[in-house]
Amino acid sequence: MLHLVFASGIVSLVVQDSIRVLQAQGYKVTKPRKQVLEILEQAQKPVSPYDIQGFLRQKGKHLNHVTIYRILDLLCRLNLAHRVLSSGGFVKCALGDIEGCHRFMVCRHCGVIQEFADKELCQRENKVAQNFGFHTEHHLSESSGLCSNCYRKHLGG
Ligand SMILES: [Zn+2]
Ligand SMILES: [Zn+2]
Ligand SMILES: [Zn+2]
Repeated sequence: MLHLVFASGIVSLVVQDSIRVLQAQGYKVTKPRKQVLEILEQAQKPVSPYDIQGFLRQKGKHLNHVTIYRILDLLCRLNLAHRVLSSGGFVKCALGDIEGCHRFMVCRHCGVIQEFADKELCQRENKVAQNFGFHTEHHLSESSGLCSNCYRKHLGG
């Protein structure tokens, strides 16, 4: 179980950015939505709805799973958070408004994740799909391997 330190009363700038996106899309910034955003912001690793519930419990708060799932679903739809395919955990989007689908490189050794987006990669994939008569709406893919740190250590020893 991960442990988080909460800076009480301080809403980080990143959370404020997400709150602005919610408002701009016509969504109310409810207390549970803010709480889930804060936890995603502070988590060092992808978190499950159960993890989120556990973190809230440490703060003496309770949200049920359905509520947490619904919030995560909304945040993912708005590209404020993403689901990491290999682990199923959720992370806060680290890119913001960058063009191209947001994807992850996941280190199988230390678990560090790196988010990236590449519009040209998307266009190339769309073309490949078009050759099959397929119309792509969204790409889901993830790279698994070793991060630069682990790769260097691996080579060194
Ligand atoms: Zn993203
Ligand atoms: Zn690594
Ligand atoms: Zn794409």
